[in-house]
Amino acid sequence: MTTDRMNQLVIMVNLCSSVVEGIEHLMSNWKNERLKEDAVSGLMTLVGSLKEMQADKAVIHETRWMAKVIKNWLFVYDREFKDRLYRWYFSALKEIRNLMTEELETCPVCGGKGKPHYGAAVYMEGGTKEESVLKPVRVYMKCRECRNYYLAKEEGGFFKGKKGHRRTKAGCQRLLAELGTFCTEGAMLFIGGERSQLYIEAEKAGYVLKAIALEEAFHRKDMETYSVVVLEELPKTRDIKAVLMGAAEYLAEGGILWFDGLDLERFLGSLEKKGTSIWKREAQEVCFTKDGVNMLVQACGLCVQSYRRVGTANGRIEVIAKKLV
Ligand SMILES: [Zn+2]
Repeated sequence: MTTDRMNQLVIMVNLCSSVVEGIEHLMSNWKNERLKEDAVSGLMTLVGSLKEMQADKAVIHETRWMAKVIKNWLFVYDREFKDRLYRWYFSALKEIRNLMTEELETCPVCGGKGKPHYGAAVYMEGGTKEESVLKPVRVYMKCRECRNYYLAKEEGGFFKGKKGHRRTKAGCQRLLAELGTFCTEGAMLFIGGERSQLYIEAEKAGYVLKAIALEEAFHRKDMETYSVVVLEELPKTRDIKAVLMGAAEYLAEGGILWFDGLDLERFLGSLEKKGTSIWKREAQEVCFTKDGVNMLVQACGLCVQSYRRVGTANGRIEVIAKKLV
């Protein structure tokens, strides 16, 4: 569930704590100019970030006030100042936490608001009655705007199932045949594992292949383009748009991008049939719907050529999108 905005919010929480620690030192070493400068610059960095995040004005104001006091009025390091410092600290943390919640509720694809669609709770028994809790461990939202699903909460430690999706030989051959109907020549960039079944089958199918690991794909050095880009597995990130945009950059004009993802609707249907509320496998951050995919790929300069729902119990959604000229 990481986005740039979320990362920045985490940095802000850490900065708040280190600023308070610095000011505590300053209160007992009030002649230390270096500590004073650090505190003021830390607070002003926070002011800038809070503004950028469109935080509550009162919190921004109080942060600026704190910086001003430390810069100009040394004599206020008393009990009253201390109380105000901690009041500021807790209100700033509370505001950042609110912004984090808001960020989690915001659709990562279109920025719209979502409503809870699926929630799995786990009942844990503890030693005493108070220790037994019913805890929501995985929550999917459905965006009211683009209709895609996205993960709003996932508690670590519950989901240790095998990573990723395993493809069968027949499945790979089927999808390569499908890909072949859209593109018959040119080089393919394979973003994923070189030893995977899909890579092996693509090689057998006669594609001129170049494989790069997902982590390398977004720190590119060469500007070579390809007529086909296959994204073997979507990384576990909320910012799917950035991933698809990155992959689309490798496409030659008119080139095609292939990717797939969990078919959440079908998956939830099969859970219902089994009578269980939770699946132990790692979940995808964003799950697609037809409308949602259309909107998503358009935002990346692509247009959908094929949208297929394949498989039964472990349903997948496969997408082929073309780079617009
Ligand atoms: Zn949306």
